[in-house]
Amino acid sequence: MSQSHHDESRRRFLRAGLLGVAAAPLGAALVSRQAQAQDDMPQLTEDDPAAQALSYVHDAAEAGGARTEGANCANCQLFTDRDGAEWGPCSAFPGKLVNRNGWCSAWVEAS
Ligand code: SF4
Repeated sequence: MSQSHHDESRRRFLRAGLLGVAAAPLGAALVSRQAQAQDDMPQLTEDDPAAQALSYVHDAAEAGGARTEGANCANCQLFTDRDGAEWGPCSAFPGKLVNRNGWCSAWVEAS
């Protein structure tokens, strides 16, 4: 390997390392902002018209007969929070948090 080829490889390696170091805080800031936005979201109430339209309940055990046995928000494909928080976002109710033990008629089994 020639000296100039070695220098070029070294430069590329250092550049990639610097980009990684520069991008890390940006990624952390985006995750932090997303968590902050989620913290600011109100919880969906059962008397919300959108909740009533989809028969949403905070406790899946209180759902009517249409519910698949064992179905709840935590195992629904539309529940986007998988980190174990009690309340998380659901794409059926944009801007609101649903209870992970809840259920509604839009439930789709998570794959
Ligand atoms: S769509 Fe899924 S996650 Fe959202 S409220 Fe209904 S059951 Fe829960």
